[in-house]
Amino acid sequence: MLVTRTLVHKNFSKKTFFSSTSKHFLTSQHFVRDTGIRSLNRCSNMGVKLRDIINRLNVMAPLKLAESWDNVGVLVEPDSDKIIETILLTIDLTEDVLEEAIENKAQLIISYHPNIFKSLKTVSQNHWKERIIIKCIRNGIAVFSPHTSWDSVEGGVNDWLGSAFQTQSSKAILKNKEYPDSNIGAGRLLSLAAPITFRKAIDDVKEHIGLSHLRIGVSRHKDLDSLISTVALCAGSGTSVLNGVQADLYLTGEMMHHDVLEATQNGIHVILCNHSDSERGYLEHFQEKLIKSENINVMVSKVDRDCLTIV
Ligand SMILES: [Zn+2]
Repeated sequence: MLVTRTLVHKNFSKKTFFSSTSKHFLTSQHFVRDTGIRSLNRCSNMGVKLRDIINRLNVMAPLKLAESWDNVGVLVEPDSDKIIETILLTIDLTEDVLEEAIENKAQLIISYHPNIFKSLKTVSQNHWKERIIIKCIRNGIAVFSPHTSWDSVEGGVNDWLGSAFQTQSSKAILKNKEYPDSNIGAGRLLSLAAPITFRKAIDDVKEHIGLSHLRIGVSRHKDLDSLISTVALCAGSGTSVLNGVQADLYLTGEMMHHDVLEATQNGIHVILCNHSDSERGYLEHFQEKLIKSENINVMVSKVDRDCLTIV
């Protein structure tokens, strides 16, 4: 499925992107020229070699930006010379998502969360994660996981989440030590262009993420009409990044009860929007970025969804 190159999510597309090859920050216009898929090694009228796609992905978000504890990169590689014609983007690689990839004849799945994280002692039919690996290899489907490299990079998942708001500035909360003068790193601390009420912030997040319900923690001595000027956010599970950060609002996917209590008792509102729902909307944005090739189909999974629903 080819999609048009329309811009998405307010001003998000105007943010800068990082090029590992040039080590310069590039505007999105330059980014198109710099990473245009025309420079990839075409093998036929349709498709690109897996190794060339992987090189391109590493330019878009260098894997060295990932956290040291993470497991990123090519996690399943049936054949490095495989010609990739269709890519499926997902947050989690489940057996249902894999079926979708097979039905759509995808040769590469980009799974934001690593489908292999802890060491495996067997690759058998006894566990769903192991069955996925077997089925991927049988069907010649490679799996690439960018995870925290996408969180850290400028223009990545956290910047997408922050584009729910009109901002004056955005800084990484935990800066990458190799790039101390950049906004590369974990989480984002936003200074809003103008104060907004907590109620408006909730509505902005609902609209941006596409959810009708969120969980919120209202700060002590404040209410839905209190004003917010600063937002600390972290897509996914944000506690370790947000803990102790001074802001009017914490925005993340999930936090434990005592961490929400700590924040709200310290004068900080909290919005929780489900772990993967705080990440999933980025896939459509990334689809637009990756689809610079006219000859590669890039799809976003239709069956991938958060495993929790508020009813
Ligand atoms: Zn996550």
